[in-house]
Amino acid sequence: MGIRIPTVFDENDGKRCAGCGEPITGTPFRVSIMDAIAREAPPSWATPAPLNPGPHQFHADPEHFRIWARARGHYLCRLSEVRELMRPVPLPIEPAAYGLCDGRHHESHEFLPA
Ligand SMILES: [Zn+2]
Ligand SMILES: [Zn+2]
Repeated sequence: MGIRIPTVFDENDGKRCAGCGEPITGTPFRVSIMDAIAREAPPSWATPAPLNPGPHQFHADPEHFRIWARARGHYLCRLSEVRELMRPVPLPIEPAAYGLCDGRHHESHEFLPA
């Protein structure tokens, strides 16, 4: 008795979604985190652990990026789309966390838990 899970190795091997962990067929959606931290935070704020700049691979659905961000305690800017390049902004909260934003708006960020 047992559940047979066929193991198929092909050119897609190794392409797994960083969000849900499932294999990605077709072209993955790649997201890189800018490694330069936006210096919008006063130095007194605790800086969270450095981010892995990626690129991280996801399914095309932006929700899978949110799963990844949520699992790491990141926040996402409400005014931002999920794009191929996101910039991290240290947030003045405890525990220290990053807000991620594409930086394509001029208003103040509106960070919400991912
Ligand atoms: Zn996924
Ligand atoms: Zn923003």
